[in-house]
Amino acid sequence: MNNQAPYYHPIGKEIEVFEHSYKNKLPFLLKGPTGTGKSRFIEFMAHKLEKKLITISCHEETSSTDLIGRYIIKGAETIWLDGPLTTAVKEGAIIYLDEIAEARPDVIVAIHSLTDHRRELFIDKLGEIVKAHKDFMLVASFNPGYQRGFKELKPSTRQRFVATSFAYPIAEIEAEILVNETEIAISIAKKLVNIATKIRNLTELGLTETVSTRLLVDAAKLIHSGLPKRLSVQVAVVEPLSDDLEVVEALKDLCDLMI
Ligand code: ADP
Repeated sequence: MNNQAPYYHPIGKEIEVFEHSYKNKLPFLLKGPTGTGKSRFIEFMAHKLEKKLITISCHEETSSTDLIGRYIIKGAETIWLDGPLTTAVKEGAIIYLDEIAEARPDVIVAIHSLTDHRRELFIDKLGEIVKAHKDFMLVASFNPGYQRGFKELKPSTRQRFVATSFAYPIAEIEAEILVNETEIAISIAKKLVNIATKIRNLTELGLTETVSTRLLVDAAKLIHSGLPKRLSVQVAVVEPLSDDLEVVEALKDLCDLMI
């Protein structure tokens, strides 16, 4: 395990909440838009608790087989290969199912018995039930605004988790994060945060997702490595947000004034 703790700046009481959830082995749901530090938080917590972290980025093809395991053909033999969820359950790792709502419905079915008092995994292809190691914990993330309710998590699934919301940090903290992540000057960090705050308040633009801390970190990295400030903001903040030429132009003008 890497000994250097990942840098994470707390936003609220999430560290304390997670520690107690871990103590009680309660499944944990991180809610919030992309780029708000959810993955960084779980990396930080796994390091703090000295637990192995297994991360799965879920997408629409992610199935229970991908998580639980499959038979593979090796030479003349057919052998069983545990998937990452089975490995985590057996070894007592923390499994992080990033963007769980993206996965196929059979993934939700597969984790059910792990998210209640049973704490067991049913491996249907082997006809086996595996009891979870005492240190095993299930963590998932979910982006509530994304895709306008198309990929919601059912209430019956959500209620199996302790949940914490992640949002954009207050301006001072966000600027501090930029400085820590990129060694950029605080004066520039503050300007980037001002730009983000301004764009986040422009609801009339109808952006599906707004400026995340991640985009600001990217802009700060480009500036720190010597790319001109305006160009950095354009390519790291404005262009990723929209493909509508008018919106892009309007945002570019706004940012040019602010940096
Ligand atoms: P998410 O998983 O929510 O999409 P990430 O955890 O990947 O977002 O965060 C994106 C980037 O933003 C991180 O790599 C990190 O640079 C920065 N970041 C966001 N929030 C924090 C925080 N609270 N502390 C430290 N870095 C943060």
